[in-house]
Amino acid sequence: MPELPFALWIALAGVLGLLVGSFLNVVILRLPARMAAAWRQEARDVLELQADATPLPPGIVREPSHCPHCKHPLSALDNIPLLGWLLLRGRCRYCQAKISIQYPLVELLSGVLSAVIVWKFGPSWAALAGLALTWALIALSGIDFRTQLLPDQLTLPLLWLGLLLALLPMFVTAPASILAAAIGYLSLWSVYWAFKLLTGKEGMGHGDFKLLAALGAWMGPVALLPIILLSSLIGALVGGTLIALRKHEREIPMPFGPFIAAAGWVWFVAGPDLLQGYMQLTGLR
Ligand SMILES: [Zn+2]
Repeated sequence: MPELPFALWIALAGVLGLLVGSFLNVVILRLPARMAAAWRQEARDVLELQADATPLPPGIVREPSHCPHCKHPLSALDNIPLLGWLLLRGRCRYCQAKISIQYPLVELLSGVLSAVIVWKFGPSWAALAGLALTWALIALSGIDFRTQLLPDQLTLPLLWLGLLLALLPMFVTAPASILAAAIGYLSLWSVYWAFKLLTGKEGMGHGDFKLLAALGAWMGPVALLPIILLSSLIGALVGGTLIALRKHEREIPMPFGPFIAAAGWVWFVAGPDLLQGYMQLTGLR
């Protein structure tokens, strides 16, 4: 890595995070639509129906961004992360339709979290891996919020990458990584089946198991219990606040993935510090 002042590295990571955030917005919007189209096609194949004539929804990389309302292609200026939205004051330049707050929020989140990763790990390979983890978690959370899905296309590569990094090893050893991936999957899997057999309801999706398995592969078995506890805590806080504000009906299922992702990210960046703080606070050390 070239010699640059540390603050500059952090700033660069923030700018890179903003740019990648723009791309994550596209993934969050387009990946579920592409998946749904693929499922429709598979279902038609199984039923031996004629192929669907409707064109496929836009691809993730090839098609340029456009206003979802009037379909007008966006100029380079409108496409600048965060600034574009601020300059347009959240409205389309061409049709004045409101632009979802999701765009600047995802970009800002990606920028800030990317800067935190480089601040924490320094300019290193570990930081690069951490950025990949951060961006995957943001995309997964956004998709889960919108569609209640955690696509295999993102959870599984994240799991494989965690296992492969453990071969180096980078964050945890290979045995720890493999063990935690299995425990992470099976723990939620057993909760799911216990809940389903007892109540007849489905409390979680299979994507949640795979996400926890992936986080286990990255962070090892010690991280699993804190991630579960932390995600339940964040989920209870957010869910309680939303119900109190009457923005969310109690009966509508809340996606759990974003809370697992948030808890996993917090543990990745600050786990040992949190643990030490907790031990000191409770007089355990
Ligand atoms: Zn428009």
